[in-house]
Amino acid sequence: MTEETFHWNDRELLRYLGCKNGAAPDQNTADLIIQCKQELERAASPRVIWREYPLSFQGHVIDMTCLQTESKSLERNLKDCERVLLFAATLGSQVDVLLHRYNMIQMSKAVVMQAASVAMLETFCDEQNQKLKEEYEEKGWYLRPRFSPGYGDFPLECQRYIAPALELGKRIGVTLTDSLLMAPSKSVTAVIGVSRLPRNCTVQGCEVCAKRDCAYRR
Ligand code: SF4
Repeated sequence: MTEETFHWNDRELLRYLGCKNGAAPDQNTADLIIQCKQELERAASPRVIWREYPLSFQGHVIDMTCLQTESKSLERNLKDCERVLLFAATLGSQVDVLLHRYNMIQMSKAVVMQAASVAMLETFCDEQNQKLKEEYEEKGWYLRPRFSPGYGDFPLECQRYIAPALELGKRIGVTLTDSLLMAPSKSVTAVIGVSRLPRNCTVQGCEVCAKRDCAYRR
């Protein structure tokens, strides 16, 4: 990364490492975390893309213009939305090189690198999502939390339509394998609902949101 130092979410990183309720890691793991963060900051080249599409519903079919699907969990999440943002982000291929290297030579570090890279991608997405949220709110639109293919009953197959719609290969260097995995591996696609109705969603999503009785909760 060439920009300013990345804003790590240590709590998330520890959660991905399996440390419950922000419990402190042992000294060896704490040292590995510092090393992994530094190496990831050097290796990652985060890129993001999004495009807006009209949204309509035909019965239970969700029509996002470039893709049609049925999913009860996504339908609930997009309730009252008139548009969607298709969103994708990646940390770039050098992060996979790092992961591969430590898988070969130091498994304990590979485990920490895996958790740190997932946390890095999530935090990068949250930051981009926050910027979009603010831009849209200035225009009187409200964003719902990111919802990725594979969440709930939102079919992973939808990646096949999201990839060409966002021109993932050309724009951010992400390709899809036949088994619908993304390369580089630390990449994500998502749908973000756009509504005139405010819900004050957190960009981290429903899992961390305090509004337990929300009708849109996924
Ligand atoms: S539970 Fe929270 S984050 Fe999820 S849709 Fe409702 S308000 Fe938004």
